[in-house]
Amino acid sequence: VKKRILLLAGGQSGEHEVSLRSARSVLSALPRDQFDVTPVVISPQGRWLAPGDTQRALESGEAQGGGDLVLHRAATAEGYDAVFPLLHGPMGEDGTIQGLLTLAGIPFVGSGVLGSAVSMDKVMTKQVLASAGVPQVAWRLAVRREWQTRPEEVRARAGELGYPLFVKPANLGSSVGISKVNHAGELERALDLAFDLDRRVILEAMTAHKPREVEVGILGNDAPIASPVGELRFDADFYDYETKYTEGRATMHIPAPLPPEVAERVRTLALAAFRALDCAGLARVDFFYVEQTGELFLNEVNTMPGFTTTSMYPKLFEAAGLSYSELVTRLVELALEER
Ligand code: ADP
Ligand code: MG
Ligand code: MG
Repeated sequence: VKKRILLLAGGQSGEHEVSLRSARSVLSALPRDQFDVTPVVISPQGRWLAPGDTQRALESGEAQGGGDLVLHRAATAEGYDAVFPLLHGPMGEDGTIQGLLTLAGIPFVGSGVLGSAVSMDKVMTKQVLASAGVPQVAWRLAVRREWQTRPEEVRARAGELGYPLFVKPANLGSSVGISKVNHAGELERALDLAFDLDRRVILEAMTAHKPREVEVGILGNDAPIASPVGELRFDADFYDYETKYTEGRATMHIPAPLPPEVAERVRTLALAAFRALDCAGLARVDFFYVEQTGELFLNEVNTMPGFTTTSMYPKLFEAAGLSYSELVTRLVELALEER
């Protein structure tokens, strides 16, 4: 019998549109002889769109229409064998939807509450990975209330890291709200922007040389495998939203031209991170590689990475011999696997 799959897309984060694009690809790739797939788009306001509105949202890339709150529709998922929560960012990739599905008792693709929540928060990720011995850049945490009431303390933390530095909302993605701060004079604007989007903000040191950006895919539950390593190259100060999503601004190189021992270190560290964070199903683990010194720093772990047919994660596994359609099939199998 065919497995009934509920594909959730859109969602309430700044990565709503990216998710719709990924969902279109997944929808057309899940083999119809094995799966009966029902897509549901969640509007930016957290509404569960009806089939007609969902269809229109997938086609136009813009969710319109009302519906019940997702919370009230959790039980709807009961009729399905598994859910594919193809949602990025807060209220989707951060453990919230995963908690709802766990309560509803339905298997789902990807990490559970713990792995999703910890991996979504850049500060929590750094703390966990530090205790697992994974190399990372120096960083500091600031919370909104501190910035409002004791800004000099936050400035001092930035000063400890030195400039340039990066300021990021702790719980976002797609480079939304991220600034490269070149000197103290640019700090206020960067912090204001990041605190508009999140209560927690991370300040991160930069490496002495502009790092190369390499990424690796992980697939599996408790016996995960690592893909070949890929590299992103782009002509911009950093990999910002525009560079990420404007056609032709960045190029993917798979496999990344790296010394074999560096690529092996990337894969080993990514697997260690996946385990330390209690991830499941899939993750894309991103690193900075400083060619001049040979240093590797883990940047972040994305538990629901971009998933269009041209996204890095599926491309990495394609290079490992797994087609896009085989990959999504495997992800559903992993969701249904006894653990
Ligand atoms: P997101 O989760 O939004 O993708 P990242 O932490 O990956 O956020 O940051 C986005 C981009 O910003 C990175 O791909 C990189 O180009 C740049 N960047 C972020 N942090 C640093 C850092 N500490 N040093 C150098 N570049 C950075
Ligand atoms: Mg991210
Ligand atoms: Mg990133």
